[in-house]
Amino acid sequence: MTDSWNTRTKLVHQGARRSQYGEVAEAIYMTQGFVYPTAEAAEARFLGTGPDEFIYARYGNPTVAAFEERIAAIEGTEDAFATASGMAAVSGALMAMLRAGDHVVAARALFGSCLYVLENVLARYGVEVTLVDGTDLDAWRSAIRDGTKAVFLESVSNPTLEVIDLAGVAKLAHAVGATVVVDNVFATPVFSRAVELGADVVIYSATKHIDGQGRALGGVICGTRDFIRGTVEPYLKHTGGALSPFNAWIMLNGMVTMDLRVRAQAASAQAIATALQGDARLARVIYPGLPEHPQHAIAAAQMSGFGTVLSFEVAGGQAAAFRALNALRVAVISNNLGDARTIATHPATTTHQRLPDDQKALLGITPGLVRLSVGLEDTVDLIADLRGALGAI
Ligand SMILES: *Cc1c(COP(=O)(O)O)cnc(C)c1O
Repeated sequence: MTDSWNTRTKLVHQGARRSQYGEVAEAIYMTQGFVYPTAEAAEARFLGTGPDEFIYARYGNPTVAAFEERIAAIEGTEDAFATASGMAAVSGALMAMLRAGDHVVAARALFGSCLYVLENVLARYGVEVTLVDGTDLDAWRSAIRDGTKAVFLESVSNPTLEVIDLAGVAKLAHAVGATVVVDNVFATPVFSRAVELGADVVIYSATKHIDGQGRALGGVICGTRDFIRGTVEPYLKHTGGALSPFNAWIMLNGMVTMDLRVRAQAASAQAIATALQGDARLARVIYPGLPEHPQHAIAAAQMSGFGTVLSFEVAGGQAAAFRALNALRVAVISNNLGDARTIATHPATTTHQRLPDDQKALLGITPGLVRLSVGLEDTVDLIADLRGALGAI
C-alpha cells in the first residue's frame, strides 16, 4: 500500500490482499498448506519464495501476513513476525538472537512470564542476565558493558507503570552494539514512539489492545527485514510458535478500531485517575498522565498518550483491596488488559503471586495495590463504580 497514509488509514486498509472474489473484509485463509501446480513449482517455492508465496502455515499464511504487514506499517518497522501469543513473541525473539555466553541487561520490573524467560530459561542456556532498576539510567550505564548483546525492557512497566527513558537506554545500548528489545504492550501501538526513540525490536502481546476485546491470544515481533526474516523467522518457523489464521483475522479486525478504542480508553483512564486522586481511602494513584507521576515528563516526551491502565493502592492493605474489588459492579475481576471491559486485578495475589515478598516490595507490588485496565464503558459509570467500591471498604 502506501507509506504516506496516516495511522488510522493504515489500520483499516494496510496489508489487505483480496482474492479473485474481491471480498470486502479480509478472508480467513484457514489452511495449513498450499497446493503447487507442478512438481517444478513446488521445488521452486522451497528454493526461495516471493512475498506472496506460501508453503506451510507454520512458516506463513496470507491472513497472518496481512496482520504482519498492518502492524509493521503502523509501528514503522520494515517487517514483523506474528506469533501464537505475546510470550511466544518475547521468548522467540530472545531465543532467536541469543546464544550461550551472551550478556543481556533487563529492567527488573517485568511481566511475570518475561521475568521467567530471562531468569530461568535464558540462564539455563548459558545467557547471563543482569537485572536493573529500569528508571535509573546510571544503573543501566554500569550494567551495560562491552559485549552486551541485548537490552530488554517494558517501556511502561506492569503493574506499577514506571516509564523507562527509552532514548537514554538505547543510546547506552547502541554505544556497545547491543540490540534494544522493547515489550511495548502498556505504551500501546497507538501511542508508541519506540522505534523513533531507538528501539530495534518492538514486541506486542496482540492479546491486549490489538484484539481489544479479550477474545484471542496473539503476539508480534516488529523489526528490520534482516532481523525478522534472517534471525526470527528461521527460529520460529522451526520451533512452532505460529499464529493461527483465525486469530490473525481477529487481530486484523481489532486493529480497524484500535486507534479509536485506545484513545477513548486513555481519556477515560486519565479522568478516573484524576477523580481518584486525593481519596482518603487510597494511599496513592499511579498513572503516567498525572503530573505527579515520577516519570510524567518522560512519558509525555516519548508517547503521544499515557495508556489505558492505572493502578492505585488501597490504604487498608489486602483486606480492604479485596472488599473494594468484591464490591465492583461494572468492572470485572480478571487479569487481561486492553480489553473493552474494565478489568480490575490484584497483582500481589494473582499475576505476581509467584514473586518472593522481597521482590514484590522492591517492585512496589504492595498488598493494597490494584491495577485497573480501563475499558470502553461510560467514564461516569466507571467513576461511580469505583467510588461505590471504595465505599464498601
Ligand atoms: C500480556 C503480556 C505479555 C504476554 O502476552 P500473552 O499474549 O499473554 O502471551 C507480555 N508482556 C506484557 C507486558 C504483557 O502485558
